[in-house]
Amino acid sequence: MHFFIMKTLPRDIIKPARYIGSEPNTIIKDLKDVRVRFALCYPDIYEVGMSYYGLFLLYELINNIDGIWCERCFAPWTDMEDYLRKHNIPLFTLESTTPLNLMDMVGFSLTYELNITNVLNMLKLSNIPLKATDRKGLPLIIAGGALMLNPLPFEDFFDLIVIGEAEEVLIDILAFFKEIKGADKRVIVEEISKMEGVYSPLFEKRPVKRLYIKDLDNSIHPVKPPIPVAGSIHNRLNVEISRGCGNGCRFCMAGFGYRPYRERSIERIKEIIDYGLKNTGYEEISFLSLSSGDYSHLYEAIAYVKEAHKNTSVSLPSLKIGSLSEEEIITIANIARTGFTFALEASSETLRRRLNKNIDLEKFLSQLHVLKKCGWRNIKLYLMIGFPWEKEDDLRTIKDFIKVFKGHGININLAISPFVPKPHTPFQWLDMDEEKSINEKIDFIKKLLKKEGVKIKYRDIKVSQIEGIISRGDKRLTNLFEYLSEKHVRLEAWSEYFDFEKYRQWFEKENIDMEMLLKGKDHDIPLPWDFIDTGIDNSFLIKEFMHAEKGIYTENCYSHCASCGLACKKYFDKEKTGGKELLIEPIHIMPEVSETFIRVSFRYGKFGRAKYIGHLDTMNILLRAFKACGITIKTHGKFHPLPNITMSEALPVGVESAYEFIEIEAGINSIIDRALIKKINKMLPGGMKIYEYYNTTIKNIKSEFAYLLICDEDFINEEVKRLFKRNNIIFCYLKTNRIKDFLKYDTIKRIIKLQLRRINALRTHN
Ligand code: SF4
Repeated sequence: MHFFIMKTLPRDIIKPARYIGSEPNTIIKDLKDVRVRFALCYPDIYEVGMSYYGLFLLYELINNIDGIWCERCFAPWTDMEDYLRKHNIPLFTLESTTPLNLMDMVGFSLTYELNITNVLNMLKLSNIPLKATDRKGLPLIIAGGALMLNPLPFEDFFDLIVIGEAEEVLIDILAFFKEIKGADKRVIVEEISKMEGVYSPLFEKRPVKRLYIKDLDNSIHPVKPPIPVAGSIHNRLNVEISRGCGNGCRFCMAGFGYRPYRERSIERIKEIIDYGLKNTGYEEISFLSLSSGDYSHLYEAIAYVKEAHKNTSVSLPSLKIGSLSEEEIITIANIARTGFTFALEASSETLRRRLNKNIDLEKFLSQLHVLKKCGWRNIKLYLMIGFPWEKEDDLRTIKDFIKVFKGHGININLAISPFVPKPHTPFQWLDMDEEKSINEKIDFIKKLLKKEGVKIKYRDIKVSQIEGIISRGDKRLTNLFEYLSEKHVRLEAWSEYFDFEKYRQWFEKENIDMEMLLKGKDHDIPLPWDFIDTGIDNSFLIKEFMHAEKGIYTENCYSHCASCGLACKKYFDKEKTGGKELLIEPIHIMPEVSETFIRVSFRYGKFGRAKYIGHLDTMNILLRAFKACGITIKTHGKFHPLPNITMSEALPVGVESAYEFIEIEAGINSIIDRALIKKINKMLPGGMKIYEYYNTTIKNIKSEFAYLLICDEDFINEEVKRLFKRNNIIFCYLKTNRIKDFLKYDTIKRIIKLQLRRINALRTHN
């Protein structure tokens, strides 16, 4: 098996740790035991992909299969991409630095319309032809994820497409492939495409059924995710408490596309929390759900974290207004690190009726004093604009709403986004509001709230228009993506690289009216995504559309089945538990917070790839390893406690070292000995290691250090002293506070920080 090893990364690459792999919990398999190699790709950069729960789920699921090795790959940032292109280096996996074109299967998880151009760029960087018809052999290119509810605009780029939740069918696909590997590609693809929930654009198959897991509680949940070494956007333990949503908001593709609502039992959630924290040492848990306030055992889950895992905070990504009890608010406020975010969507009750956004506003407003009492001064609200029934009076109501918050001394951060009609929702037939109208509405709200001290953020309407065109697009858009690829469009989710003009150019060239693509459609006209059978009856979507026209609420799935066509059994508890009557029996994995703390310092080193990990990430990695190994660290700060730590001066990225220090205040119950250090070292990324520990401060132990320079020719500099020459390699050293300046010299191959005593010893012995 050919391996491509990129031994060193260029020194001018931003955040090189994005490309080194070797994170704690990374899975490395012995190639002699591997029959199938799978590259799991997320079409955005490392920090985004490493925040995505679905990636960890598939990583653990695939790697649990004998004989199959799943590795990860992310889109490179532009500097790395330029480097790869310039040196003709194909895009590679993090685990083994193997080029994607040498893998057996390459899977993309697609969750956002503007990431499709990244898929094409990643294929191009891997020297893999873009279209399935142009690819003769392996790797097979597979796609899955939320975007597959309308895959037509980009299906031609994939050999196989999985519709819906992939967990179960992926195991079947891989088991089958493991057996048949070596057969003709068309035979393999044809056979796999016959499986339920899977199709290939190379073979006719209509309809294609959406898959969903019936028994969520017994399905796999990742508990040993790789821990990012280049600060991911959400650096925390993701715990998926439920999947799907029963609220039936008529604009929401996730709500309809992931039906029915399913929950994990509280026992399983506790188990996931225990194992997850033990394996990662994370200081924060995020309870993932489309509407976490609806989870039957939310209070119990939060209270469990509070009792059993002290110093661990909880965040709830999305909350429905009025879905939390006062006890839940108080408990969250006690341990939450982030603020509350609520999805209001529409500020008037008339409009909310049309959207089926049935919220208990009165209950929520009556709880504002609790929020304030718990120390919350800021709340983030999501508002959507651009619905066809929207009047000025509807928009005006936001001011009254905000005034109530202000009356309680709570500030509002308002995030406004345009409504984008999505496939498989009751609003799939609606017009998208025009740019001029959206901008006028934003201006109106800005003027309206000018004196209210509200921070307003709004989404670029042009981005939303492109999302709208792609999400309801058809086969014609395949050429658009090829055109964008030729024009080198990528990383569009990053505003600096979103290029609306390129889209406009293509539509003009093809004589396609962009505005027309954003218009609504009649109920009796076939839609490009009709061949995807989500299990929800079209007649139900039409009925819901009619209810929106009339402003009629449909009850949520928790209280009444509206017969959407799924005929689901209820996969959740009927009654929401919560409040004081709960009996919580915590399991204590973490030791009780000790009352007495002692200062402990650790000397550690970073060699090889670990030299690319930045100072802050190094600190977080060490703290998590300490926590995972049972060390209690003293914290300070009431609402957002931070650990009491001291570190030696920041080591520049790219410099190796055997002389780094971190000092903590450790609980006296934390027994720190050689065995524990060994355990901690197992939790560290490859190349990072703790050598010693001392029961004192850094100040008391740290002595003089210097930098050893390993050069391939004589390095002339008055500060640099030559040590010796061996095998044409020159060893020098210097003492400086400006070591970063020396990274620019190509002749210096390695810089290693060492205790001066060690450098003197080198001089004496050579
Ligand atoms: S069958 Fe009933 S309960 Fe199940 S998702 Fe549909 S409407 Fe909700």
